Order: sequence, then C-alpha cells, then structure tokens
Amino acid sequence: MKLIIASNNKNKIREIREILRDKFDAILSLREAGIEHETVEDGTTFMENARKKADEICAISGMAALADDSGICVDALGGAPGIYSARFSGEHGNDEKNNDLLLEKLNGVRDRGAHYTAAVCISFPDGTRKEAEGYLFGTIGYERIGNGGFGYDPLFFPKDSDRTLAQFTDEEKNAVSHRGNALRALLEKL
Ligand code: IMP
Repeated sequence: MKLIIASNNKNKIREIREILRDKFDAILSLREAGIEHETVEDGTTFMENARKKADEICAISGMAALADDSGICVDALGGAPGIYSARFSGEHGNDEKNNDLLLEKLNGVRDRGAHYTAAVCISFPDGTRKEAEGYLFGTIGYERIGNGGFGYDPLFFPKDSDRTLAQFTDEEKNAVSHRGNALRALLEKL
C-alpha cells in the first residue's frame, strides 16, 4: 500500500517516515505528491483535527492519507496549550516564541507535570478510517537543553529521564514518543 502524509511539518514527516519505514510500499510527503494544501484546524480535539487533515488529503490525492495532530498539555495550565500548541504564542509554528511563552507562564510554578499527545488517523479512498492516540508523560524544565527534535522538546524531560527530548537521538525519541506510540497502536489495527 502507498501512503501520503498529510502534513507540511518537516520534523513530523521525518519522524513518521522513520517509524513507518518498511510498513508501506511508498510513503510520500505532500510536497513529493505535488499537493499544496493547508487544512483549517478548527476541531475541538486532537482527533477531530487529525481526521479532518486525513480526509481532505485522501480526497485530493485519491490515496490512503495519514495525519498526525499533536501537542503538549501542561498540568499547571489546565492542559494548555493542547490543540493550540503550534500557535501558543500567536504565530503558527514559531518554536522559539512558544518555548519562551511556556517558560514565562510557568515562572515560579513548582508543578511542572505535562504530557504530549498525538492523534493519528489514516483515511482510505473507500471512506473508511483507522485511528489511534499515543502519549508521552514527563515534566517541563527551566531552560532549553539540547538541539534535537523540534517544538517543545528542549524543555521536555520524559518521565525517568535526566535528558530532555531534544537530547534524544531520533531513534530514541521515536521509541518512546507520543507519535511513536500512536503509530504503533495504529499499525496494530491495520
Ligand atoms: P499540529 O501540527 O497542529 O499538530 O501542531 C503540533 C505542535 O505541537 C508543534 O508545532 C509543536 O509545537 C507541538 N508538538 C507536537 N509534537 C511534538 C514533538 O514531538 N515535539 C515537540 N513539540 C511537538
């Protein structure tokens, strides 16, 4: 089976490709398929947004389409930024500003608990879908550490780790991440 990844996020695409390697005949990015499309993410849950992205790209491409909607939920902020993680600071996908704002909001806060969530959905041309969620629990640090990963990874210490996710190799991250866990659960259903 051929699969198209319904995302324009290079980091997500890299991680998804690595995790699903060997499971599909071909895995195409939107760019490789010559598709320029940005889904309006107006769902109220990670899964609603993932379904919408997968359905739209499946309809446009006529191929099985995989979408990932993900983010970080911080306990002391009542689960924020959650589905708004990419645009927490107002500007879509500005990791620097998002991390600055998170540190600012947690200034003086001792409860640093947080978790990443990933909702993944594959939409098929026959109108069916398969979906799954995955999580990674941990804590938010006090300063950025590490150069790997993306997004909030330099601030995120996975549970029982003295390194941030940005200090993990891609392979180490994929073995424990919300995205890895969600995709492995999804593969079980295929
Ligand atoms: P989406 O593209 O709307 O799903 O937004 C995803 C956003 O959540 C990213 O821009 C990051 O801010 C955050 N995020 C999701 N997954 C990760 C991850 O694996 N590491 C760091 N940040 C992530």
